[in-house]
Amino acid sequence: MAIDLRTVILASPDLPTLPVVASRLLALTADEETHLAEIADLVARDMALSAKLLRVVNSSFYGLPRRIGSIQQAVTMLGVNAVRSIVLSFSFFTLPEKKNALFDFDRFWKRSLAGAVAARVIAEHLPQADREEAFIAGLLSNIGQLALAAAIPGQYQQALQAAGKSWDDIEEAEESHHLGVAHGHIGEEIAGRWGLPDLYRIAIRHHHDPAAYPGTDEHEARVVRIVHLADLLAAIFTSPTPEVIHQSFRLQARKLLGLDDRALDAIVGRIAEAIDASAHSFGLDLAPTRSVAEILEEANQRLTQLHLSYEAMNRELVRSKQRLEQLQDELSHKNALLEQLANIDDLTGMANHRHFRAALDRELDRAADNDSNLSLLMVDIDRFKSINDSRGHQVGDAVLREFCLQTAAKLRNYDLLARYGGEEFAVILPETGPDEAMIVAEKIRRMVERHPFGEPTDPIRVTVSIGIAATGPRRDRPSPRELIGLADQALYEAKNSGRNRSVLAHSGSGDPDENTL
Ligand code: GH3
Ligand code: MG
Ligand code: MG
Repeated sequence: MAIDLRTVILASPDLPTLPVVASRLLALTADEETHLAEIADLVARDMALSAKLLRVVNSSFYGLPRRIGSIQQAVTMLGVNAVRSIVLSFSFFTLPEKKNALFDFDRFWKRSLAGAVAARVIAEHLPQADREEAFIAGLLSNIGQLALAAAIPGQYQQALQAAGKSWDDIEEAEESHHLGVAHGHIGEEIAGRWGLPDLYRIAIRHHHDPAAYPGTDEHEARVVRIVHLADLLAAIFTSPTPEVIHQSFRLQARKLLGLDDRALDAIVGRIAEAIDASAHSFGLDLAPTRSVAEILEEANQRLTQLHLSYEAMNRELVRSKQRLEQLQDELSHKNALLEQLANIDDLTGMANHRHFRAALDRELDRAADNDSNLSLLMVDIDRFKSINDSRGHQVGDAVLREFCLQTAAKLRNYDLLARYGGEEFAVILPETGPDEAMIVAEKIRRMVERHPFGEPTDPIRVTVSIGIAATGPRRDRPSPRELIGLADQALYEAKNSGRNRSVLAHSGSGDPDENTL
């Protein structure tokens, strides 16, 4: 599959080809026997090319002290390499733009020019490097992408989409993954066909990964590194994260080429202007290049903005969390209140029947676990109906409330007084055996009997009858129902035997104990 696509690409009639003059020039310059005059002659014969070449050499980009009037002069003054570089550049920028909606040619020319100028500017800081060589290597480094876009436009676009990248920031590994071939390989092949010297083929092939350069030639290795760094420097202008690319550029330039901060500052500071000057000299109509400083400043602002909105978001989150916690507090408070309300008897403020049953279950379990006693009193007001009848229902209500207050005062914190229903109350006495329960019952009974209920001027005499049931350790444990039943039965006994008394139930048969005044 991989080999197939590569074959398809390299067999495509749409691959970029060099104009004849350029290939002849390449052949001539490759031959060491060639005289400068032959080279000048070749170029001079192409009038249009000559005119363009003279314009470039006289532009500010080359900054020569005096005007150059002929190709012969240009070749002598600038050298063969410079002339070749200019001719190749013109050939490159006039490569036909194969109609392809998916490939932005202007962007490609601009990116290639940026790569070329970057390579040249970097080379200026390296004494052993040839600037023109660097320029051409930088210019052609991504020719493989032009070839991919021309030969397999649909598939290339699909690969870019699959990688979620545009052609100017896709990694070669991603191309290989999606296409089975990377642009470095295709570019190398194209350069070979164009008859470019090996140096360029190697630079094109390895510019994305200089560490993979297999050779030992220092000069070649240097050009590979220069082109690699030039590609990074040029990417600052198109990357969505220029600050990252910039850092990476500086780091690698130090490592791979030994460039120091001063040199790097100079390179980064000049590059945008140099690109525009070069574009101008080639007559390219490209949008002006923003300076790296400006781009980094903007990235910095974007990051600050991001950071600020992150902070604002964070603050909002903290606020929301606080609000939530507050709401949760209120909710649990209200729940506790509701729970309490659900457990409280409206009239007396004591535990209601529901709460009493739950508490009894719980306390019986605990008594069983601890093998301790628990007693239950059922307290019923004697002839309460007559109080209602003689004094009215509201006075009856007041008596019920007062009974509760007075009784609660006689109990321990962990005893529970509950309104069982009507004028009948239950008292749970944990950790209390039958004898102590009888004492508590009598305390209540006597208190009620002596207490003047209602108005002091016209006190109401009230008495209660109390049934007592107790569980004992090591005895069979009664269920809540059984315990209530026992206490009820004892209460019934108390009523039947004359009221105003406490009667202790026996779980087994036999007469209940009884206490009266
Ligand atoms: P006994 O000694 O047999 O218990 O006689 P009693 O009159 O107390 O008992 P009975 O069960 O015949 O009557 C209970 C009365 O308690 C009847 C009812 O109207 C009254 N009562 C029940 N709940 C309330 C209440 O919330 N407020 C008032 N004022 N009276 C109530
Ligand atoms: Mg009663
Ligand atoms: Mg009753």
